[in-house]
Amino acid sequence: MSVQLPRRLLAHVLRGHPWIYADAIERPAGARAGDIARVTCGGKRVALALYDDDSPIALRVLTTSKQDRVGPPLWRRRVDEALALRRAAIDFERTDAFRLINGEGDGLPGVHVDHYAGYLALKLDTPAWRPHLAELVEALASTPGLALRGIWFKGHHKRDAAAAAAAPPGALWGAEPPDPVEVREHGMRLIASLQRGQKTGLFLDQRENRALIRRVSAGRDVLNLFSYNGGFSIAAALGGARRVTSVDSAGAAMDDARRIFALNGLDPNAHEFATADVFAFLEGADARGARYDLIVCDPPSFAPRKQAVPKASSAYARLHAAALRHVRPGGLYAGSSCSSHITVEMFLETMREGAARARRVLRLLELREAPLDHPSPLAFPEGRYLKFALTRVD
Ligand code: SAH
Repeated sequence: MSVQLPRRLLAHVLRGHPWIYADAIERPAGARAGDIARVTCGGKRVALALYDDDSPIALRVLTTSKQDRVGPPLWRRRVDEALALRRAAIDFERTDAFRLINGEGDGLPGVHVDHYAGYLALKLDTPAWRPHLAELVEALASTPGLALRGIWFKGHHKRDAAAAAAAPPGALWGAEPPDPVEVREHGMRLIASLQRGQKTGLFLDQRENRALIRRVSAGRDVLNLFSYNGGFSIAAALGGARRVTSVDSAGAAMDDARRIFALNGLDPNAHEFATADVFAFLEGADARGARYDLIVCDPPSFAPRKQAVPKASSAYARLHAAALRHVRPGGLYAGSSCSSHITVEMFLETMREGAARARRVLRLLELREAPLDHPSPLAFPEGRYLKFALTRVD
């Protein structure tokens, strides 16, 4: 099946943007989700792409190389290259939880695979991958050097309810992962439930930021807002924090956080765990006059769609302001955003605005995006969803 690419989009594709929207092309008659399209421009082949009959993203580019064919050798190469990159940069002895395949950034657009101590959790953005899934699983399972025990299908993106219903979570290969799996992150012990957890079990994209928080926590009273199962909290406590308060509305995550403290030899009773709405917690903290030397604030995405950006920006600014009121002078504040629609500059503006409202001045110490195991094509700004800023609060 062939699809003609309008000439105005040629540079877009050749520069490495992996998406072609449906409104830019003529949908090929009779083509079904998962078919491989030969994308042409002026009669010449430009790319091979995965066709999706339902999504506004009609084509996901699999290769722009003239030599490539779609099939097992290509999957093999993609997986091997992805693993080589992680192996070069991550000490697998101390860190066995990392993202192995980051979709677009690893040349397998729409496929996310996370590695948890010998188990893989695989998530798909589109049902178009389903006809190729067995081949992909075969490529993953036979990866040398990973000593895999099982591959777990975490499901389809929740936006796609029909696909999610047609393909429920389950084992794709090997053993079903224990619930939870115990993993190590820079030597810190964590647990991840591939079956029940948010994302694929852990928010692996914050790994290096948790390590940073560990380095700056000694002697501090720490507040971790939107803590999930306590990753930043445990990092802070291991880094010598005096007392760590974790806040999340998910009760199950909070139970796991206590277990993970104990697993790391930390007494959970020496710390505080609040199953609460962060906004309500901060209001209560106002009333109590609570103060901290370090606050980490890692909220869920407030802007799942582009149209939501203005509202989301003002909600982020309000949240930063509410949190910053509780930082002692000279303390630290780490803000984060995981919305791909909020650019780095917009993110910094929400922090500036929040600081202004709280009448505080922030000094930027470190500004970070996603770590090396979450690559994204430079021509694909949609992939740069994670922002993290560590600041000093005057
Ligand atoms: N920092 C975490 C990841 C946070 S993800 C880590 O490093 O692992 C966002 C978290 O916010 C989720 O755990 C979700 O349960 C929680 N959450 C979402 N809305 C909330 C709210 N209004 N109040 C408290 N927690 C909330």
